[in-house]
Amino acid sequence: KQEYIRKPEWLKTKINTNESYRGLKKLMRGQRLNTVCEEARCPNIHECWSERKTATFMILGDTCTRGCRFCAVKTGLPNELDWGEPERVANSVEIMGLKHVVVTAVARDDLNDGGAAVFAETVRAIRRKNPGCTIEILPSDMKGDYESLHTLMSSEPEIFNHNIETVERLTPKVRAKATYRRSLQLLQRVKEIAPNTPTKSSIMVGLGETKEEIIQAMDDLRAHNVDIMTIGQYLQPTKKHLNVVRYYHPDEFAELKEIALTKGFSHCESGPLVRSSYHADEQVSQAAAQ
Ligand code: SF4
Ligand code: SF4
Repeated sequence: KQEYIRKPEWLKTKINTNESYRGLKKLMRGQRLNTVCEEARCPNIHECWSERKTATFMILGDTCTRGCRFCAVKTGLPNELDWGEPERVANSVEIMGLKHVVVTAVARDDLNDGGAAVFAETVRAIRRKNPGCTIEILPSDMKGDYESLHTLMSSEPEIFNHNIETVERLTPKVRAKATYRRSLQLLQRVKEIAPNTPTKSSIMVGLGETKEEIIQAMDDLRAHNVDIMTIGQYLQPTKKHLNVVRYYHPDEFAELKEIALTKGFSHCESGPLVRSSYHADEQVSQAAAQ
């Protein structure tokens, strides 16, 4: 039988649904686009869209070929590849007036290149239309296929982000198909292809990991030259998903951030509501200043 623990006060946020937010939501539907901000019902959506001018688009359809046990994206037969999507994303970035955009995608294990060609074209289309906007990509592990990675990197994103999601021991339970080592290798390979592109990775805590295991994950990321780390609280999207084992206190997140910085990460965001794309605009400006 599943045991549920009560959500602490610091996680009880209200989603701000003001007029500009509703307008943008309508724009997404009209353009047949998906954002992680909406799909994951991210509590930071008002701050990101309205104040920071950043958003996370999820491309290559709304259906994933994998089914990770923490993720709310639907699983099943994927959509047909849509070559009009790059231009629609680029237009929306323009209309939203974004300064930083994160482009992520469902895992497309059904495609030979994992969707890398459309992904790279999306980055190019955004840049053509929005020369002042920085672009961060957050792809799947592309089945570990380095040719696909080269295709992606040829679009020269400002940040390469790929999440290990959790500590090594819990990876088989939490992620579908992806492995901890393959993700680390992917991050390392990006540094070989583009040594000056900052790399970034995230973990969720609260899935039953120990502090030692989190520190080991930090060491593993640094051993693969990852520059930026984010740490956030895992929240169960529906009852079918993995239970939350523990809610971390904000002080514990602050401590983890301190530890990460001593490990040599150039930037670390760590907090209960931190998501992979949270405050990403700051990270890119910091990376550029280095
Ligand atoms: Fe979107 Fe990321 Fe901001 Fe959440 S933190 S609203 S997912 S950009
Ligand atoms: Fe969700 Fe990504 Fe896993 Fe697909 S591969 S289920 S989108 S976390």
